[in-house]
Amino acid sequence: MANSFHRGAYLEFRIEKLLRIASCSNGKGVISSEDIQAGDMILFLGGPIFSENEIPFLAEPTNDYFLQIDEDLYLGPSGEVDDYINHSCNPNTGLVFSENRLGMKAIDFIPKGSEITYDYSTTMHGSWGTMTCNCGAPNCRKKIINFIEIPVSIQQRYLELGIVPDYIRHHCTQPIAQRAFSETLRPAISCARGRAMRRSACRLRRP
Ligand SMILES: [Zn+2]
Repeated sequence: MANSFHRGAYLEFRIEKLLRIASCSNGKGVISSEDIQAGDMILFLGGPIFSENEIPFLAEPTNDYFLQIDEDLYLGPSGEVDDYINHSCNPNTGLVFSENRLGMKAIDFIPKGSEITYDYSTTMHGSWGTMTCNCGAPNCRKKIINFIEIPVSIQQRYLELGIVPDYIRHHCTQPIAQRAFSETLRPAISCARGRAMRRSACRLRRP
């Protein structure tokens, strides 16, 4: 569904499940305090919406919580539990974009005591650089990159789960073989893009 997010708006945070912030293997993360069934809504992310050129220069990797939500829009921190949700290459939730809300849905059964994670690549498109990943999943991709750069089989799974926003989905309409071929022609993402790298640190683990 097309959304109506716009610069200057504020998304209201809302929680649907019992969650807590706790120390995890890579810093702080969010732990479920109850069993969550696949398909259940866990929370709605909150925070102010900025255009890309409004993201504060002072943002550092350790306190930079900007999440891309459209071609040129980013969601800032809410000050709530959603600021602490970590990336995983084997996530148990995904983001669901609706007209004016951004929900987080379980894509698997999540037992009480498990860390809540999503795949940051599902929202990344455009100016983002890469991040090193240490999520520890057996299928860890070792770096967090734009959605259209991740393996096509993983793209397909996320598309089927309905956790890929329209601003990325419409870049995925080429036949798979054709897209795979064009990706081989694209130059590697440069690591010299300092500001882009910083922005890409959005919702990174806190120390
Ligand atoms: Zn990983």
